[in-house]
Amino acid sequence: MNDDQLNRYSRHILLPQMDFDGQQTLLDSKVVIVGLGVLGSPVVQYLAASGVGHLILIDHDRVELSNVQRQICHGTDDIGLNKVDSARQEVQRINPSVQVSCFAQKADSSLLQQLLPECDLVVDCSDNFAIRYLLNDLCIEHKTPWVSGAAVGLQGQLICFDPRKPELPCYRCLYPVAGDDGRNCASSGILAPVVGVIGTLQATEALKILTGIGEPVYGRLQTFDALKGEWRSWGLTLDKACHQHKS
Ligand SMILES: [Zn+2]
Repeated sequence: MNDDQLNRYSRHILLPQMDFDGQQTLLDSKVVIVGLGVLGSPVVQYLAASGVGHLILIDHDRVELSNVQRQICHGTDDIGLNKVDSARQEVQRINPSVQVSCFAQKADSSLLQQLLPECDLVVDCSDNFAIRYLLNDLCIEHKTPWVSGAAVGLQGQLICFDPRKPELPCYRCLYPVAGDDGRNCASSGILAPVVGVIGTLQATEALKILTGIGEPVYGRLQTFDALKGEWRSWGLTLDKACHQHKS
């Protein structure tokens, strides 16, 4: 690390759990962020500010006026831009030394097959079950840890998966059948900071997993009810009927 980096990351380095080695690990890390909307916004901001060396951004959408209420890495001036390009500008504003690769397309199997072998972690900020099942299966294939988050209305949830640990449940253990994709922000509305709560925790878990700090929420679904101001933690076990764990 040079003097500028030592200064920029000094409050991280002061943490005994992080220290120089942890910060260097972040600088050397490569993370895929799937979706640069509600959850991807705080995730990309915090991972960039924290000095994750290479961010790979995937989103096929463009910024619309109705996004700006809660997708805080995009501003009014970004309306009409590809979300990945708008997010790249935000990363450069926060921390120009972070390398950014942009894919203005859907996160399909062929793109993920190309990216996963060389990345350290995936943060799922998508909004549908199909992509989460695809991520689950490909992350198992490539033994890549991933952080899952979701939010709608006044509720959110968070859980981490690590296929390198065979005793842990996977996303299909949690959701053997797809839930209702129809209940999304466009149809149900969303209180803006609720996605910030979940996205910020996804970034926190991502940094923990990359550096080996503490205990990521593996196998423990965290649910947040903003109406009550209440968190709950649900312990999950591996589902032996889940086809990912049949030998
Ligand atoms: Zn499973």
